[in-house]
Amino acid sequence: MTRAKPGPKMEPEWAALISAARAASRRAHAPYSQLRVGAAIAGRSGRSFRGCNVENSSFGLTVCAERAAVFRAVAEGERSFTRLVIYTPDAGPLAPCGACRQVLAEFCCDLTIVSVGRDGARRRYRLADLLPYAFSWPAGEDAGAAEAKTQGAGATD
Ligand SMILES: [Zn+2]
Repeated sequence: MTRAKPGPKMEPEWAALISAARAASRRAHAPYSQLRVGAAIAGRSGRSFRGCNVENSSFGLTVCAERAAVFRAVAEGERSFTRLVIYTPDAGPLAPCGACRQVLAEFCCDLTIVSVGRDGARRRYRLADLLPYAFSWPAGEDAGAAEAKTQGAGATD
């Protein structure tokens, strides 16, 4: 088994979260894609929550590891998050899909995400960079700020 270890630049607070995401990936139900994914998300309370992808033969019913982790956290009372790890032993580092980005944005617009792939390869993302114009209803401050930024950049539509 290949075990991803925190790299020389990885802060220690990420190590436990990576370990939790790796453990969650072992519980993935991925008979169709063979892509096992685990996620671990850290709440502001200090607790962390795991999720794994759960596929279904009716593919549209599949739930990604990230959403599974968020839904579990919310069910247990956590609604504010600081860090997310996505782990897969089956591919390179994966970015969260569009649906997961939107679900994460419901609870946190400033979230750091570390994705760990095969052989420990890593990528780091910020949710705000991955989803700069998240849907928000009722339209709130973020939607207005994004609009103002576009106008300030000289948009002419
Ligand atoms: Zn997803």
